[in-house]
Amino acid sequence: MKARAKGTAPRIETQAVHAGQAPEPITGAVMTPVFLTSTYAQKGPGVHTGFEYSRTQNPTRFALEANLAALEGGAGAWGLAFNAGVAASTAVLAALLEAGDHVVAGDDLYGGSYRLFDKIFRRLGVSFSYVDARDAAAVAAAIGPRTRLCWVETPTNPLLRLVDIRAVARACGARGVRLCVDNTFMTPFFQRPLDLGADLVVHSTTKYLNGHSDVVGGAVIGRDGDLRARVAFVQNSMGGSQSAFDSFLVLRGTKTLAVRMERHQQNALAVARWLESRPEVERVLYPGLRSHPQHALARRQMSGFGGMVGFVLRGKTGGSRGALARARTFLRRLRVFTCAESLGGVESLAEHPAIMTHASIPAERRRALGIGDGLVRLSVGIEHVDDLIADLEAALG
Ligand SMILES: *Cc1c(COP(=O)(O)O)cnc(C)c1O
Repeated sequence: MKARAKGTAPRIETQAVHAGQAPEPITGAVMTPVFLTSTYAQKGPGVHTGFEYSRTQNPTRFALEANLAALEGGAGAWGLAFNAGVAASTAVLAALLEAGDHVVAGDDLYGGSYRLFDKIFRRLGVSFSYVDARDAAAVAAAIGPRTRLCWVETPTNPLLRLVDIRAVARACGARGVRLCVDNTFMTPFFQRPLDLGADLVVHSTTKYLNGHSDVVGGAVIGRDGDLRARVAFVQNSMGGSQSAFDSFLVLRGTKTLAVRMERHQQNALAVARWLESRPEVERVLYPGLRSHPQHALARRQMSGFGGMVGFVLRGKTGGSRGALARARTFLRRLRVFTCAESLGGVESLAEHPAIMTHASIPAERRRALGIGDGLVRLSVGIEHVDDLIADLEAALG
């Protein structure tokens, strides 16, 4: 890499633009070409360039994988790109587990991760314990003789609770359990779980890494070569690898990761502070607020607080009654924010977890976790913050 100063590793902003990419050797094209081919010519049987078939090897996907590895894990890390975040998660589970094995998982997970565990892998004989992973001792206590994997998200979705990755990694390491962290919300720009002791990181690249809401994708990143071999074997055998075109788009997205994340966070902090001042709002969930119960951990473990904000609307009577109706009205009135699932794109989105993203979690579990009818989740985009706040104000009014 040209930008590399002697003796210093390139910063993440520089890696985001350059890692995994060099000018294409034939024409000098600066952007990585989209290799739309399923197969590659061989000089004779078995005599090939290292590229045989695109499910297994594709140069555009390889460039993305190298870029993601550099961002999340630095030198020596590996990355594997998938056609969805859930395909990346599936690959980790399929690579590490067999019938009879046990997984300790955080109890506040992306709804699709819970569905994957509960509806697919449980049927295949894997058992799961869900614990409040804010408490590393609770994670340690749930580890049994057949526990192979611990799975956490931090901050959690949608409640923005934090898991102390270092503490959980220590508890897992002591018992030979692999720790996988879903780092979708923070991205490596704000949080690097591998540096805190995690074995694997998964991403839905659909969100901030791509950042433009035009691709569904996922990734697994790690440092251990044996784990790479196992996850890559599943990627090739089960067929979850990302297409060349989508790899190109995600690679284009990661180039601007640093500038986007800075603006997401700046806007989110301003929106969170503004919401905290409003009488219609009972509570605001954002790790960057002093009022967040784990604000100190957020400052220690993350280098920023991200773009996701949760808040609980008061019911008209001041309690939770009527909160659902109020949330519905609020979401219908928004004009700059779009009412939609997903997150992490340049445009601001708002959604109702109980009805939309977390509907696959049974109502009782949702209630026990605190995903109530008044909870609204915002993915704060990179528009002008005054326009965002004016929109929220009009919708609350
Ligand atoms: C969206 C999401 C996923 C799943 O990713 P897809 O790309 O939708 O398959 C997993 N984890 C988190 C935290 C997510 O937000």
